[in-house]
Amino acid sequence: MFDVIIAGCGPTGAMLAAELRLHDVRVLVLEKDTEPKSFVRIVGLHIRSLELMAMRGLLERVLRHGRQRPAAGFFAAIPKPAPKGLDSPYAYLLGIPQPVIERLLEEHALELGAQVRRGCAVAGFEQDDEGVTVELADGEQLRSRYLVGCDGGRSTVRKLLGVGFPGVPSQTETLMGEMEVGVSQEEIAAKVTETRETHQRFWLRPFGAGVYSVVVPAAGVGDRAEPPTLEDFKQQLRAIAGTDFGVHSPRWLSRFGDATRLAERYQAGRVLLAGDAAHIHPPIGGQGLNLGVQDAFNLGWKLAGQIRGWAPETLLDTYQAERHPVAEDVLDNTRAQMELLSAEPGPRAVRRLLTELMDFDEVNRYLIEKITATGIRYDFGEGPDLLGRRLRDIDVKQGHLYALLHRGRGLLLDRTERLTADRWSDRVDYLADPTAALDVPCVLLRPDGHIAWIGDDQQDLDDHLSRWFGKPAG
Ligand SMILES: Cc1cc2nc3c(=O)[nH]c(=O)nc-3n(C[C@H](O)[C@H](O)[C@H](O)COP(=O)(O)OP(=O)(O)OC[C@H]3O[C@@H](n4cnc5c(N)ncnc54)[C@H](O)[C@@H]3O)c2cc1C
Repeated sequence: MFDVIIAGCGPTGAMLAAELRLHDVRVLVLEKDTEPKSFVRIVGLHIRSLELMAMRGLLERVLRHGRQRPAAGFFAAIPKPAPKGLDSPYAYLLGIPQPVIERLLEEHALELGAQVRRGCAVAGFEQDDEGVTVELADGEQLRSRYLVGCDGGRSTVRKLLGVGFPGVPSQTETLMGEMEVGVSQEEIAAKVTETRETHQRFWLRPFGAGVYSVVVPAAGVGDRAEPPTLEDFKQQLRAIAGTDFGVHSPRWLSRFGDATRLAERYQAGRVLLAGDAAHIHPPIGGQGLNLGVQDAFNLGWKLAGQIRGWAPETLLDTYQAERHPVAEDVLDNTRAQMELLSAEPGPRAVRRLLTELMDFDEVNRYLIEKITATGIRYDFGEGPDLLGRRLRDIDVKQGHLYALLHRGRGLLLDRTERLTADRWSDRVDYLADPTAALDVPCVLLRPDGHIAWIGDDQQDLDDHLSRWFGKPAG
């Protein structure tokens, strides 16, 4: 009997497993693939995800494997510099191969004691009042108290759960791959500049060792099960850029669509959904993996509280209440960005106008904060603007605030030195620091780093500790 079975060891599943292990929850991750993925797609980790890595002591590890780039040019690939005053010490983009970030997160989960079984596909399940019986493709049955589907956009768990996945099917498809080219760098640079004036979904970028990353619109929406051929790339390059650049020796070839879909519910009984299993959208802006990892961060401590028995009755419900609107917003902004990549005259005019508007720093910052998830404010009720927002990694007397969050517990940061969270000390840490770089007297941080309370009154604080962390121990 496990506490939680997670279907899928992608970035979302691995992050969730690690978050649950911080609270000693018995976790089993079932992954259908026998080996980690071999394709080398570079994904961008945005500011909020880098902050999450810092909060769990993973940032150094992750930085060693990626390349830092300015936090700029994300929104519809409009080439503007980073806005001024981005409110984070981690205000950059980290480009990192997806298999590497997956491996690092899986290693982190294993180090914390999660079990991962590869070559095990979840094929069915049944839930009752006490738990879930999970059936694998080979007929083996396993039992857990909860099941979380982190099994990607075609999620078996979501389908078996009967949760609707409404949205818009793909209207366009894009070919993407890595290959060698047969012409000079100068020729490529000139053609790319000329072609991108009208075709924003076209790119040839050097990837190192003579290999180029090639992105070009597909001829139509095809059968997703059929991988594209090198000939498909050549034809489309000729149609769009007037030359096929002599491409040859592909490393890998793939295609992606622009379908946007959002699960109607993130939870039904003892079964939950997270990551691509709950939402899909075009990859423009590079938000999908970030969104999934952040879902896991939001869900982990709440599900752990439920299993450990201290969670207030409605805590787990806040997972959907908080994360569903965030995904809705990502679906919207990616849809808007896809429009802005269109070669049609109307969208091109809107793109020119938005490009001008982004010269206003406020507009530029608003869009970057949207994509990097640093602008998120959960609805915790009436209160100062900081309430419900993340707290940046401020300086505290021991050094950096995030270094105090590695264990995934709540934190009362008290500049008044007269409040206490002692009765919740099994779940919430306490730091008295009159020098903390905050302009409010005291904040209560949730394990995901969002501000759950601001004030200086002990009774009000106790009410909020109970709201988020349940009844005090004993
Ligand atoms: C071209 C492209 C570029 C992208 N660039 C970015 C980017 O720059 N930044 C970004 O944030 N995102 C990016 N994304 C999106 C990102 O890749 C996904 O959002 C991310 O992989 C989702 O992670 P996940 O763990 O939720 O799902 P997945 O990565 O799909 O993982 C699901 C896992 O579940 C397993 N599985 C499936 N079914 C079962 C089953 N029945 N039982 C057990 N296991 C199962 C799968 O084998 C897989 O390992 C990009 C996507 C594309 C297509």
